[in-house]
Amino acid sequence: MSNKKWKEIPIGGLILEPGNSVKYKTGGWRVFRPVHDPTKCSNCLICWIYCPDSSIIVKNGKIEKFDYDHCKGCGICARECPPKIKAIKMVKEE
Ligand code: SF4
Ligand code: SF4
Repeated sequence: MSNKKWKEIPIGGLILEPGNSVKYKTGGWRVFRPVHDPTKCSNCLICWIYCPDSSIIVKNGKIEKFDYDHCKGCGICARECPPKIKAIKMVKEE
């Protein structure tokens, strides 16, 4: 995706194309990244429910991976993982 010049941006910065959020790789905003430990995980999927960016990929009822192209590193998944399990750790981006 190339950056637009100011004259090419719609007046008011309106987003005119619906359903375009997948094109914007917001993972670059991240300071901390979630790291999943499958050996601790009970696959309760609470993290998946709470993720505001739908960045937790589930396959066959199990956490498969994070979509690091779109995960903003908010840490909600790590926070909501049950305290006795804590299968997600937030790790500083290098
Ligand atoms: S850190 Fe935030 S955006 Fe990333 S997977 Fe967890 S809840 Fe989703
Ligand atoms: S909330 Fe924790 S235990 Fe539940 S699926 Fe997510 S990582 Fe696994």
